[in-house]
Amino acid sequence: MRAYFGTPPVRGGPRPRSIADRFWEKVNKDGPVQPHCPELGQCWVWTGHLNHGYGRLQEGGHRGRGIPVTHISWEMQYSPIPEGVLVLHRCDNPPCVRPTHLFLGTGLDNSRDMVAKGRVSRAPGESNPMARYSETTVLAIRDRFAQGGITQRAVAKEFGIDHRYVNDILHRKSWSHLDGAPIPSGLHKGSNHWKATLADEQVAQIRERYKVGGISQTALAHDYGVGQSLIWCIVNGKGRHRIA
Ligand SMILES: [Zn+2]
Repeated sequence: MRAYFGTPPVRGGPRPRSIADRFWEKVNKDGPVQPHCPELGQCWVWTGHLNHGYGRLQEGGHRGRGIPVTHISWEMQYSPIPEGVLVLHRCDNPPCVRPTHLFLGTGLDNSRDMVAKGRVSRAPGESNPMARYSETTVLAIRDRFAQGGITQRAVAKEFGIDHRYVNDILHRKSWSHLDGAPIPSGLHKGSNHWKATLADEQVAQIRERYKVGGISQTALAHDYGVGQSLIWCIVNGKGRHRIA
């Protein structure tokens, strides 16, 4: 656990405010509802300084390490984030810090791992025609589709890209180095990825393993070859994963 929730007092100086206090005073909970995901409710918008659209808070005052505000939000609400894991937005709104709008992504360290193991034979994404989409975007597209209930064309529209690229991304024809998840057998236009890959039994198993503890949502997502946001839905009993 990072130690930034309890800021040590400075000798002789005024008692520093906790990072939680400094965080909340810069959050506006009256943010917009995103048209592509109204079910998520309003964004909680970071009103402090933004760097390339993303907020950071200095740990222990102005000379401290800058911590992404999404990480602070996630860790206060859920659990510590392992090194190298990304906090991504379901709502696609970078300044948003609402915990339920966030999910963890492991694609980047997974890809490094795959490169290290020599499992990547094709050129990495940066040198192919998909390079103009960031790795984060690619992961978010896969994740959005994995949540189900949306067609490839609708995903393309949400992200403002050509639907043929979405098809390539989902089938790992491009950016296949980003994760090792198998291509779901039922993956076709309009299909629900999770339905094709996870049986009710597996959903129950995931929930049970998470309840027992000692395993992260990220690790479960890796084990079952699905997106972390799907695991989040399952363990939080959201959407169609509400089974007895
Ligand atoms: Zn949001």
